[in-house]
Amino acid sequence: MNCNYCEFRCQMPNSLCKMYEEKDGQIVEKYPHKWCSYHPNATESIPIYHALPNCQMMEVGSFNCNANCAYCINARVATIPENGLFLFDFTPERLAEMTAKSGCAGIHFGVNEFVVSLPSVLAAAAAASRLGLLVGGSSNGFMTPEAAELIAAKFSYLNISLKSFSSEYYQKYTGLPSVEPILRNIKYFADKLHLEITTPVVQGLNDHELPAITEFLAGVNPNIAWHIFRLQPQYKMEGRVPPDINELTVLVEKARQKLPFTYFSNFIGSPLDNTICPVCGEILMERICRSSCGAVLLDNYLNADNRCARCGYQFPLADLNKGGQK
Ligand code: SF4
Ligand code: SF4
Repeated sequence: MNCNYCEFRCQMPNSLCKMYEEKDGQIVEKYPHKWCSYHPNATESIPIYHALPNCQMMEVGSFNCNANCAYCINARVATIPENGLFLFDFTPERLAEMTAKSGCAGIHFGVNEFVVSLPSVLAAAAAASRLGLLVGGSSNGFMTPEAAELIAAKFSYLNISLKSFSSEYYQKYTGLPSVEPILRNIKYFADKLHLEITTPVVQGLNDHELPAITEFLAGVNPNIAWHIFRLQPQYKMEGRVPPDINELTVLVEKARQKLPFTYFSNFIGSPLDNTICPVCGEILMERICRSSCGAVLLDNYLNADNRCARCGYQFPLADLNKGGQK
């Protein structure tokens, strides 16, 4: 029997992510409702920039992953066996209730790849919806079309990490065999929910791919928020130099000609982390870039109906309560 949650479609009992098994003719989780972390986090830190500005989400993670990225920031939870972690056992209702009491707008599934715990994630998402909470997540995007459909039915937004435009890079540095399912899922989700993309840049390995990714994303949605993440090499990439800020700035500015909402983050003082009006150049949303993931919102200058105060340009801020930005 095969697991059909991600494109590895593992044949049991060989669960690559070690999170599923076959029981009574069904694929079930080995560790249902077990979480390794839960904490409120700002949407700008996730990052999500074009929805829920200055909002807190309860970021929840399980453990293990279907990928094995050479630079994984969260390798501590993405690659360590379950007995090496302290785990929380929360029912879907308990997770939703804690989220509501914390004042967060909803649950964000991140930290590791949430598809390796999909039944528990969907159950928690359903409990959250019953309390009027939103649901979103960060993903490597390697799920199957069947899983993507289940996710699209429950989630309001996603940030998909498009780590490269080449399958060779994916095979060499992430353990995932192909970029194609990820590109397919980006196109699918762009039409179903609010979608933002993050590309972690590794100097000398994928920086030259930014123009090709720009073309692809511009074809998906020219208003998409694209986060170019200046990766600080760690885990198996420790010792590599971090990306050159000046070189990447040139590439990001070029990308902005086609994708005006391209952001450059993960170093203090980035001038390319603000949202700029593509018509008149006015700052629409001002942020302070953090030295770690994402930013802090300093000011939102959009007027009441999300228009540029200077020229009236209508900014595509997603209203997730109305189904999000398509
Ligand atoms: S989620 Fe992916 S890696 Fe994990 S068992 Fe299923 S098919 Fe395999
Ligand atoms: S997909 Fe994310 S969590 Fe999984 S190994 Fe890669 S960086 Fe780590």
